[in-house]
Amino acid sequence: MHCNICGGTEFEVYRGRPNEVCTVCGSKARHRIALDVYERLLFPHLGEGARVLHLAPRDCLFDVLAERLGAGYITTDAEPERYPHASPKEVVLPDDFDKFPAGHFDAILHNHVLEHIPGHWKDHLTGLVRWLKPGGVMIFSIPGPYRDGPTVEGGEHLPSDAERLEKFLQEDHFRLFGNDLEPFLRDLEGGELLSDGVTDERRAELGVRPGKAPFFVWRKQAA
Ligand SMILES: [Zn+2]
Repeated sequence: MHCNICGGTEFEVYRGRPNEVCTVCGSKARHRIALDVYERLLFPHLGEGARVLHLAPRDCLFDVLAERLGAGYITTDAEPERYPHASPKEVVLPDDFDKFPAGHFDAILHNHVLEHIPGHWKDHLTGLVRWLKPGGVMIFSIPGPYRDGPTVEGGEHLPSDAERLEKFLQEDHFRLFGNDLEPFLRDLEGGELLSDGVTDERRAELGVRPGKAPFFVWRKQAA
């Protein structure tokens, strides 16, 4: 078992999940899976000067992506001060969907971001893929998805953190993604949902439990 981000071989429990966090770089399971997916479905497809948008650029992935992507690597967040290593541009969604023109990015990356955006999740996905160039790809993860029902949202309208924690499992989560996410992406016009290609054997190598940290890879039709 090893961390594909830093090469570390020791992991610790986080919120009851064994081997969740790498003791060297602090990566969680989803970050290690993310890099695995990027190595196969992102890096080999990027041409010279490609523009890649990373929302909420966690430090462990930021370091790798900044080195691999160079000047075309663009980071944003609603609260830039949370990511001082990256100095991200302030982009507050859903208000700032006009911050970039349509067809601007070769790739858009985000992990556990969509559950923090107020409003309706389908509008957010539609807004993000609008920023993709033809042939561009969006690669992302969310908590869950929880398989036994449709996405539940509206957390921004609850009066307290305690109620969000109770209903959405974290004080600052506005929704719980359910079993309607995957069909929505599969049917989303203008592109196709690809497999993340991660096997449970590969998960085991990265200290990730079977079936956990599934990724969504949506590629826009080439022009
Ligand atoms: Zn590590």
